[in-house]
Amino acid sequence: MVGLEEIISWLKNFRQRLEANKDYLTRLDSAIGDADHGMNMCRGFNAAVAEIEEKNPANIAEALKSVSMILIKKVGGASGPLYGTFFLKASGAAKNAESLNADGILEIFKAGVEGIQLRGKARLGDKTMLDAWFPALEAMENTKDSGVGPMIQAAAAAAEKGMKATIPLIARKGRASYLGERSKGHQDPGATSTCLLLQAAAELWS
Ligand code: ADP
Ligand code: MG
Repeated sequence: MVGLEEIISWLKNFRQRLEANKDYLTRLDSAIGDADHGMNMCRGFNAAVAEIEEKNPANIAEALKSVSMILIKKVGGASGPLYGTFFLKASGAAKNAESLNADGILEIFKAGVEGIQLRGKARLGDKTMLDAWFPALEAMENTKDSGVGPMIQAAAAAAEKGMKATIPLIARKGRASYLGERSKGHQDPGATSTCLLLQAAAELWS
């Protein structure tokens, strides 16, 4: 089961992974964007973790909502509102649960990804963060009966495949789409940060 404590350690672990991969994300975004994805994500999640430490949220929904508000408020670019929407919808789906089992985790992630889709209007294969999210959700559907740990590990593995599969794609959404054919041959930065988000969960949740 994943309770408030596990959610908070997940967010902290993600923040550490973002710090450790800041230059890598910047490099990816400098190839097909404007080189700010590492900075955007680090700024957002440093602020989100600080907010949570200060506010001491009472439950999972409140924690996720705090994160979403900070990301929407503090992070510019495409990724702030998109990740912000993910956490907002996930918060709504968490309702007043004290802890989440595999079905519950799948439900909040699904709601979050629907939010990203509604907001950004991207589809599978458009070379965005959704190319990591969609296969991750599919893997979760297929493994949820084996419990949170195996399910989230399957999700992280599928997200990594999806992330790598963005390399040959032509970007159809966001800044990278301005490059057209020239966006081929580069890994999408947002799919890469999504992969880190799921790896953080896979390291901690059992
Ligand atoms: P910006 O592109 O505004 O500089 P970032 O560099 O922080 O913002 O984020 C870029 C990432 O956002 C991309 O790599 C892509 O994964 C994601 N992205 C951009 N547009 C969309 C969209 N419409 N739907 C989903 N993800 C998107
Ligand atoms: Mg950028």
